[in-house]
Amino acid sequence: MNIQAKNFIGGEWVVASEGASDINPSNTGDVVGEFARASAAEAEAAIAAAYDAFPAWSRSSIQLRHDILKKVGDEIIARKDELGRLLSREEGKTLPEGVGEVVRAGQIFQFFAGECLRLAGDKLPSVRPGVEVEITREPVGVVGLITPWNFPIAIPAWKIAPALAYGNTVVFKPAELVPASAHALSEIIIRAGVPEGVFNLVMGRGSVVGEAMLQSPKVSAISFTGSVPTGRRVAQSCITADPMKKLQLEMGGKNPLVVLDDADMSVAVECAVNGAFFSTGQRCTASSRIIVTEGIHDRFVQAVSERLRTLVVDDALKAGTQIGPVVDQNQLDQDLKYIRLGQEEGAKLVAGGELLSRETPGFYLAPALFTEVDNKMRIAREEIFGPVATVTRARDYDEALEIANDTPFGLSAGICTTSLKYAGHFRRNVEAGMVMVNLPTAGVDYHVPFGGRKGSSYGPREQGRYAQEFYTTVKTAYSFDGNGPYVPKTKGSE
Ligand code: NAD
Repeated sequence: MNIQAKNFIGGEWVVASEGASDINPSNTGDVVGEFARASAAEAEAAIAAAYDAFPAWSRSSIQLRHDILKKVGDEIIARKDELGRLLSREEGKTLPEGVGEVVRAGQIFQFFAGECLRLAGDKLPSVRPGVEVEITREPVGVVGLITPWNFPIAIPAWKIAPALAYGNTVVFKPAELVPASAHALSEIIIRAGVPEGVFNLVMGRGSVVGEAMLQSPKVSAISFTGSVPTGRRVAQSCITADPMKKLQLEMGGKNPLVVLDDADMSVAVECAVNGAFFSTGQRCTASSRIIVTEGIHDRFVQAVSERLRTLVVDDALKAGTQIGPVVDQNQLDQDLKYIRLGQEEGAKLVAGGELLSRETPGFYLAPALFTEVDNKMRIAREEIFGPVATVTRARDYDEALEIANDTPFGLSAGICTTSLKYAGHFRRNVEAGMVMVNLPTAGVDYHVPFGGRKGSSYGPREQGRYAQEFYTTVKTAYSFDGNGPYVPKTKGSE
């Protein structure tokens, strides 16, 4: 195999003995490239380089960090079309979605460039005389960043940018399925001038590279985004490690979208179709559970089904494609397994669910909608992570809210209603980290916190200013001014 794309370890591009092909899911005959797969020893070398680089980088000037991150953000945005095309080619989301994700990654770097200049602390009086208290934030150390395949550039960006901004050094392990976007992003970061060892790219297997990061005492913190089972494994390792590692987990979702009788029908249909099926339903925030009250149920199901039949499922890079292919054969098998399971469980498949053939061999699946879904069914409880959504009937708002909260997950939740009363009540009472009113459950801003509750997330939030909770550690410093407690002079004491 001719491995064109190498890992970046300790300031050098390193040849690997093993590699893997990156395949285009819209056309399995198209190989995007051959990418290095790091060994455990290479992962350890990257960790050691990051460890050695930490003291100098943690004290580097905030102007330097700002300039590097700004440069990264600017180059990403300037090359959005080319990078978006690469992303869509390897992951399968449509070209506009790919370009949009690239722009988002650039904006995140620009945002955190600004954050370098805004890091602040607190100075407080002490309860003891002559003492002052200063609270400052310091970087954590070497951070291991483990990312999934479904946002190949945005998720790495929202971990790498704050990690570097706050003075940490980085070992970045992208998902096996999407090394090309990770590699392109890494080239930009390196070109922007990060000093040797500060940023390291180690493409490779989770069981090899990921495990090496979890086992190394030189890694102080792990930020992980991926599935619940892997997240649990990561958590166990971090908590039993000596010393324990700081930990941030963003995992799966089974996000409810509630549609009430008084909803604006066109808004509700748009929220459901966009939220459940765009990006081929492969978003942790996808509206995979749609909960609809009696009065609007049948009209809503009919309108969504009609809309699904008009969606263009095709090659991600083709103009006019609205839904790209599923990412790979494993994910397609999982989607088909759940489509069969839903039928066996007694749900009604009212649209899609069949394999589609297109000009090129790819993983094309017609977006599937199930109705008559009981919230106890496995298709309503387990994350499928594909273009498959369920509709569950609810008597009224109260029952809809109860069903929305009856899930092990708690990432995002949405409601479509024209009632201020129900919108306000839902915002306050739904058990999710993010709530959307008359908006799809997917689609978020980059300058505000992102994350969930219950089985979806663990640890501090990502993104926006809240990212500093994970990427910094707080120091409380007490200083005594040396003069002793101030004693006011009293008459006659001179
Ligand atoms: P995954 O859990 O299979 O893999 C995620 C990452 O973990 C990959 O880089 C993988 O190589 C690595 N990994 C695997 N085994 C490991 C191990 N033993 N030690 C360390 N690392 C290991 O997830 P995926 O299939 O890439 O992504 C899909 C999942 O990600 C879905 O469940 C989705 O909901 C979730 N996701 C969550 C969010 C969020 O912010 N909540 C965002 C995007 C995706």
